[in-house]
Amino acid sequence: MSVKKVSKIAVLTSGGDAPGMNAAIRAVVRTGLYHGLEVYGVVRGYNGMIEDDIFQMDSKSVANIIQRGGTILKTARSKEFFEPEGRQKAYENLKKRGIDGIVVIGGDGSFKGAQKFSNEFDIPCIGLPGTIDKDIAGSDFTIGFDTAVNTAVEAIDKIRDTADAHDRLFVVEVMGRDAGYIALHSGIATGAENILIPESKTDMNLLVKGLTEKEKRKKLVNLIVVAEGDEFGGGTEVANLLKEKLPNADIRVCILGHIQRGGAPSCLDRLIASRMGYHAVECLLNGTHNVMVGIEDNKMKYTPLNNAVKAKQKISDEWLKIVKILAS
Ligand code: ATP
Repeated sequence: MSVKKVSKIAVLTSGGDAPGMNAAIRAVVRTGLYHGLEVYGVVRGYNGMIEDDIFQMDSKSVANIIQRGGTILKTARSKEFFEPEGRQKAYENLKKRGIDGIVVIGGDGSFKGAQKFSNEFDIPCIGLPGTIDKDIAGSDFTIGFDTAVNTAVEAIDKIRDTADAHDRLFVVEVMGRDAGYIALHSGIATGAENILIPESKTDMNLLVKGLTEKEKRKKLVNLIVVAEGDEFGGGTEVANLLKEKLPNADIRVCILGHIQRGGAPSCLDRLIASRMGYHAVECLLNGTHNVMVGIEDNKMKYTPLNNAVKAKQKISDEWLKIVKILAS
């Protein structure tokens, strides 16, 4: 089978921003140029494709960005791209420039859009998992997760100091509407007493019993890390429940919020973004089309966009057991 020749490619960031996206953009642009391709940047995700906000990039356009959070291409959610008319407009804008390959850096929603677009217009798309939530199957890492967790750990360590000084119970909410990875990793790394995540059910009575016993043992520093999408709600809801059951405890809530998205990407995020960006262009050139580029067991893994869309990573029982044992 002959490989469809790709000569002009576009790169865009879509959905929620994640630290390390810039490093991925840089890798796509520079690898494309290395292979003699024309490389275009699309501004504000699929909106830029529809509104013709597309510009040619050179090596200098990605200078001095590897260390910057956010995305120089900006990102957006595009309602119009859900509609066939929107995708048609997007296609016309690519076609008039002769763009024949796309790299989309984003989450599973962005991959759904890319898959649909590619089916309709026969333009190969490559997805790079750019999301702080790490909830995409087919990769041990997603761009932005490591930075977000490190930001959460730094903040929770600080909260522990004040919790310790006042013998307070702190409920810290971290990001994760559907996925508990940030909560799980940051909770383990900061020695939290409990970690509440959407993937596992929490027995509130057991939680209260544990806290009461610890109080009796004068183990007074208590940190509970909650993912925002836990079954009880976020940090505020969990704290309110605990206040009802532990009326004498001094309970405070801290919602970390958007600080987890920002900031300079960690070394790991820069590395994986660079590696994935490089391989995205290689895929476009060698005919490995409509896949998400991931890394598993330190090897590149190519998951059809369709499967990357459907599958969700599962949190292993091993981690959940470790949490229980180490927090006792
Ligand atoms: P995050 O993980 O940060 O939420 P995401 O990529 O999953 O990132 P979404 O808002 O789900 O974010 O999707 C980004 C964009 O992808 C949407 O705004 C839309 O333009 C496009 N998209 C998502 N799903 C589809 C679909 N089924 N058909 C066409 N386009 C889609």
